[in-house]
Amino acid sequence: MPPARRLPVVPRPQAGELSGSYLARLAMANRTDPHTLIGLLGRVTAHVPADEQHLAIMVLTLNEAAFSRLLTYTGHVADRLVRAIPSLMPKTFKAPGELPAVRISFLKEPTVECPGCRLRRNGAYLDTRLFSHRTACLRHGYWLYGQGSGDRLDFALLPEVAVAQQRLNRATLRYGSVNTMHAYRIAVGYLGHAWRINYHPPWYPAMIARWQQRTRTGGVLPARETWQLPDWAMHSECMALTCLFLSPYWARLALPAPDRRHKLFYERLLAELAIEDRGILQTIRNFDPLPGDIQEQARWGRLLSDLEWGLPSPVTVTPLKVPFIDITDNYEMSMRRLLGAAS
Ligand SMILES: [Zn+2]
Repeated sequence: MPPARRLPVVPRPQAGELSGSYLARLAMANRTDPHTLIGLLGRVTAHVPADEQHLAIMVLTLNEAAFSRLLTYTGHVADRLVRAIPSLMPKTFKAPGELPAVRISFLKEPTVECPGCRLRRNGAYLDTRLFSHRTACLRHGYWLYGQGSGDRLDFALLPEVAVAQQRLNRATLRYGSVNTMHAYRIAVGYLGHAWRINYHPPWYPAMIARWQQRTRTGGVLPARETWQLPDWAMHSECMALTCLFLSPYWARLALPAPDRRHKLFYERLLAELAIEDRGILQTIRNFDPLPGDIQEQARWGRLLSDLEWGLPSPVTVTPLKVPFIDITDNYEMSMRRLLGAAS
């Protein structure tokens, strides 16, 4: 490998830029091919995409030796470079002292970035893992998360989606991005999957009707509104649940209690989802599988607001005893009646 020497042109790294994006820009600024530049940093240990545009959206991981060559080529200070581009933090692949090497991998993340914002950053691609709460860009009118990411939206027609995004931004300031998006994914899990596909609670059709209406307002084709709803159609309700799940106060209240005060949690849940039908509060069975999950996770000492929520059960811990207690006695009474009739 030739000795590294300073390149004539060194572009400034953008804060939060993806490593592939920066190396592609560095190559372009010096009128060279990104593959050639990466080859100068070290041996590439994985498949390299042929298209240089693709390289700009990949994660490049450098080992110590390759990273030190990059510093020589650019004249950057290590700390400052890694602060701007965290994925450039060098890793040891096999053993310390190894020859310079580079790994290339895909960025797997449900959040994409706003094309309008990228233009303002001279085309630099963001490491969206660092900005996972930017599920929509209100300035440029794009949805950026999961199903429907990249959709152009007129937020004037969908004010509740914009309000939900502002709510998400506030929650991130208060609870941090990691906790907030953890709770958001749990909310999406119930609203978009568990209740939708497996449990069909009685209050759910109203939700679907609301989301289909929103999808039509957003101007999306009818084929997609039937089953594959875009995530932005559910954003408002997902965010409402996220706020409920994030709060340690509500998470504690959700635990089954003999005085049935966990009914307050489910009342709040209905209020957050703007569901009028109070008859649903006869039994927590109308929210399955959430009550069972709360009970199960409580056995491992976890609240809905904890980051450990949903992780596999630890093998070394003895589970706590958490009883099933309903929010009224209607369900238990009807079960007794049913059993009495059968005998
Ligand atoms: Zn934007």
